Order: sequence, then structure tokens, then C-alpha cells
Amino acid sequence: MSLRLHDSATRSDRELVPLVPGRVSIYLCGATVQGAPHVGHLRSAIAFDVLVRWLRRRGMEVTLVRNVTDIDDKILAKSAEAGVPWWAWAYRFEQEFTAAYDAVGVLRPTYEPRATGHVTEMVSLVERLVERGHAYRGEGANVYFDVRSFPEYGALTRQRIENMSTVEEEEATDKRDPRDFALWKSSKPGEPESAAWDTPFGRGRPGWHLECSAMAHRYLGESFDIHGGGIDLRFPHHENELAQSRAAGDAFAQHWMHNAWVTVGGEKMSKSLGNSLVVANVLRQVPAVVLRFALGTVHYRSTVEFSQASLAEARSTWERISGFVARAVERVGAVGAEEVTSRPLSALPEAFVAAMDDDLNVSAALAVVHEQVKVGNNALVAGEDGVVREALLQVRSMLDVLGLDPLAAPWATSSGPDDTARAALEALVPAVLAERAEARRTKDWARADALRDQLQDAGIIIEDSPDGARWQLGGTR
Ligand SMILES: [Zn+2]
Repeated sequence: MSLRLHDSATRSDRELVPLVPGRVSIYLCGATVQGAPHVGHLRSAIAFDVLVRWLRRRGMEVTLVRNVTDIDDKILAKSAEAGVPWWAWAYRFEQEFTAAYDAVGVLRPTYEPRATGHVTEMVSLVERLVERGHAYRGEGANVYFDVRSFPEYGALTRQRIENMSTVEEEEATDKRDPRDFALWKSSKPGEPESAAWDTPFGRGRPGWHLECSAMAHRYLGESFDIHGGGIDLRFPHHENELAQSRAAGDAFAQHWMHNAWVTVGGEKMSKSLGNSLVVANVLRQVPAVVLRFALGTVHYRSTVEFSQASLAEARSTWERISGFVARAVERVGAVGAEEVTSRPLSALPEAFVAAMDDDLNVSAALAVVHEQVKVGNNALVAGEDGVVREALLQVRSMLDVLGLDPLAAPWATSSGPDDTARAALEALVPAVLAERAEARRTKDWARADALRDQLQDAGIIIEDSPDGARWQLGGTR
């Protein structure tokens, strides 16, 4: 039994063989905190959260480093426009990202370094590159990576230098080759004093690509297991990270993983789609767990088509699964969290394990969850409590791997009411339901429907069953 993951460098599925047995080290490119997080950011975070959860379930000790890029051109420009210090601007959005990750149940990384806290490491990396003849000085404090000095340049994305587009930031005139990229950048006139550091090359600030190489080296060493990020980062960002680190003598990542985009109306989501994709706005429309479900149950290398329809589908599937969990708990009592989270691989359904081991095939894994829900629902009807309990345990354990166990944080705590509010609801809702049952008995359908709509508008989901109407909170967050 081995875990196979698609490696975007070799474009093949490869068995994950950690450098240190039992331990997996991951570097994931995090956010440039220049604006509010949108669903595309969450998609990447959730994809790698599922990887981390699966590795841990497989008994691995996982170290996840996800950086924060807290200085760049956009941060400087936007903060200047808003009239606030760049560092306050960056920190405000860093906190918004943290809140968004927390809201959808993404586990905190082992460490989350900020670029500005690692200038010392960046300077020493640039010095190593200059010494080895892979970097050169330009005008002022500019230092560039010399792509022609590194024969493997283009290996990650299988491009020949001649055919590469030059997508680097500014049209610098002091480069030897237009494809050379900035390691260190001279501060420009008008930029705040605080946005520059004194270095042996002069006063300036880091190039974006340099940050990740320096921080990966600082926290994970010369070599680590997996480098991840969105597919849009492959070129030039990851190609440049790889070139710098290898040219400086680091073996760097053994395995590259990239998640696909989120599309809207079949197109890659972009700024032009406006605020509708900003996480905070989406969370005003749907519970966070539904957003997680919509983004996290599509294979990470497939695009997620984000629409009202896909959210509605996620919501109804989630309600079917969490509804079973609620009914099963009512019947057989809750199983302990410990029993759920520590359930060994050997006790999970084989098909689920096989699906997750096959490059994290979450859609196949979810099909196994549905099978178990069906088994559990049938057992509820048949009154087979032992089978109900086992199905409940299986369903929750599998959902835990996907970050979707309805009875675990954050869903069980932040999305539910506190005890006092719960007690009030438990007194009021049955009274309304009794009134509705009476209206139905006297065939006053208009009244019955009005009462149901009233409850639904308040975020209470009604489900009619042979034993009478049941209710649960579903529409609120
Ligand atoms: Zn990066």
C-alpha cells in the first residue's frame, strides 16, 4: 500500500517516498496579502489541507510551511493609494486570510513565515548565487539571476529559454537577457523609507521568487519532500524558485504538486469578476461548510466550476450526509472524537483508502462516504443499531480526512448556536412544528406552508419523516 501523487515536474504519478521515513516536509506558496481573499485562494489551501490530513492519517509527521508575501509592488501601490502604511495594509489582509482559512476548517500550518522577516536569509542566498556565477549586479541595488548560466532553466515547465515569454515585472534595461529575473530590487523614488533594507548590494527590497527559496531553505533545509501551489505559479514563479535554489546548491523539492483553478462560466476567475468571489461575500450566502464542500470535493487537479448551481448541489449533498450523522447520533449516541480521528487505515473502507492513495482522488473517496451513508440509513430504518454505529464511525472518520466531519471543529462549534440559544430553539421550533402538523391535519395547506417557509427563512431545515417532522439548523452560519 503506497501513496502515489502526481508530480508536475515529471508529469507522472510517483510514489511518495519521504526523505526521512515517517516524516513529510511541505512548502506551500501562500498569499500575497494585497487584498481580500477570494475562493481561488481557499481552493489551494483546502487542496493541500486534504493532503496534510491524509498524510497524518497515514501516520506521517507532517511539517507544513506556508509563507506570507507581505511586501510587493501591489501592496506598496494599494497602501499608498489608501494612505496607510504598507505594513498595516499587509497585516490587515494577512488577518483576513487567516480568518478565511479558519472559517473553512483549513488546519494552521506548522509555521507561517513572512517575507519581511527573512531578509537576512535572502541576502545570503543572493550572495551564494553571485559567488557561484549565477547572479550579477545591475544598476543601483538591482541583482538579477542569470538564466543563461543555469542549463536546467526551464526544466520544471519543459520550456526552452528561447521560447519563454518575458513576464517579469518591469522592463529593466540593465538585464543581460530579458528573461533574467530580479533577486534584489533597488528602491524606487517615492517608495516609503520603511520598504527598503540595507544590504551589501545597496538599499532595496526582495524579488518575489527569492523569498520562497530563502524561506524553504530556512525552515525545511536544502531538500524537502513536496512543493505546492496553484497551477498559475508554475511559471515563472516556481521555475525561478527551482533555478535559484538548485543553482545555489540546494536539492530543493523532490515532488511538485499544483492545484487547478477555480473557473466561473468556464473562464479562469479574475479580478474583473468583482467582489462576488471574495470569501467574506460568499460566506454571507452559504454556510462555510458548504463552501468547503464545493471547493474540496473536486479532485485538486481538476478545475472547480464555481456557480450558484454548484453551491446548491454542494449544499444538498452536505445536508444528506450531515443529516445521516445527526440521525445516527440521535439513535446510538455520539462516538468519541478520539475514536474518529485515530481510526487506523486498516479499519477504514478499503475503497476509500485506495482512492485517497491514488493521487487524492476525493471524488472516488466521496462515493465511498455515500455508500456508507446508505448502509447507515438502511440500518436506521431496520433498527440495527450496531450497524448504525459502525456506519457513523466510518462516515465521520472519512469526512475527517476531507476536513468535513460535521461534529468536529469548526463546524460543530462555530456554526452552531450556544447552549442558551439552542435551548430557546428547542422550545420554540417544536411548537411551530406542532402548529404546522395541526394545519396539515385540518388540510389547511396554505397555513402549513407558511409556517414551513417561516422556519426556513430563519435558517431551520425541516424534514418530514414517518415519525413526524424533524428539524436542524442549516441555513445560518
Ligand atoms: Zn512561492
